[in-house]
Amino acid sequence: MKRMYKELLEIPGAPSYESHVKKYLKDVLEPFAEEIVEDRLGSIFAGINTRSKGPRVVIAGHMDEVGAMVTGITKEGLVKMKALGGMKGDVFLSQHMVIYTDDLEEIPGVTASKPPHLTRGKKEEKPLTFDELRLDIGAESKEHAEELGVKLGQQIIPKNNFTVTADGKKFISKAWDDRFGCAMAVDILEEFKDEDIPCALYGGGTVQEEAGLRGAKTATYTLDPDIFIAVDCSPCQDSFGGDEISGKLNEGFLVRFHDPNQIMHRGMKRHIEELAAKHNIKYQHYHSKGGTDAARAQLSRRGVLVATIGMPARYIHSTTSMIHQNDYEAVRAMLKELVKTLDSDTVAEIKKNV
Ligand SMILES: [Zn+2]
Repeated sequence: MKRMYKELLEIPGAPSYESHVKKYLKDVLEPFAEEIVEDRLGSIFAGINTRSKGPRVVIAGHMDEVGAMVTGITKEGLVKMKALGGMKGDVFLSQHMVIYTDDLEEIPGVTASKPPHLTRGKKEEKPLTFDELRLDIGAESKEHAEELGVKLGQQIIPKNNFTVTADGKKFISKAWDDRFGCAMAVDILEEFKDEDIPCALYGGGTVQEEAGLRGAKTATYTLDPDIFIAVDCSPCQDSFGGDEISGKLNEGFLVRFHDPNQIMHRGMKRHIEELAAKHNIKYQHYHSKGGTDAARAQLSRRGVLVATIGMPARYIHSTTSMIHQNDYEAVRAMLKELVKTLDSDTVAEIKKNV
């Protein structure tokens, strides 16, 4: 795995705070891109082979990660937070989190939780929602917090270290969802930058996916693709039992055949499954309760052929998450084969299979 994956994970970027992620992507894309495409909401894509008469193909991650914003300071100096993205309060008790200034200066803190000594013998309290949590930055009053640099609207992101598991095969970090997709999009573009491919290929990241698939709408309109492939992490249930359609690490990429906002296009599903079988790329079917940018992209203009190449990930939308090296390789192999096959005839054939 290239260094870029880890470097992208470490940048803080809650929904609408993606500018530092975007800067990183621009820096790595500009040296070889034929074209950089940005929209007014902030999504960024680079194109290669853009003069091709073949189909326009987009590979998209999303630059944002789940996080929060500062919405107030209590008179005792505790910081009030608003979740940006779906997060449960009980997962975030006693967690290291950092408030970032616009220049990425850090104001570290810990989310307040009651030790058992304070709750013993008392009626069990209702679990807190995320927005009811308070971040303790060590300030002694509202004024003190302000002196330390806290301002309304700053982003708050969990703090943890990138960790490789003892078997060397799994990687634990915040923000796999979805810096993985951004890094993979760049990775695939780099792979093909000097190659002869049958399509005009764009890769990059959208903004504000976690806030309701917002960036995908304007990015897809701007790029006007024939095919839009979202590369995104989906939560695995395998460490809690689960079944054959709820995601397992080390079982290959996910064919997300159904989610609440997108029924996978039959032609795309067939093409992807046939290609994966032909090249011995491991995949698993996945039924999702959430959406990806593909759901929004499919509704752009006259409609877009979309698919999500899903990356199995445990514990997303918490302070951290885990992925498997072999699944990363499966996603990468699948995208490479897809790009090589997406010529005008194949796309016409895919379209017919609705
Ligand atoms: Zn995601």
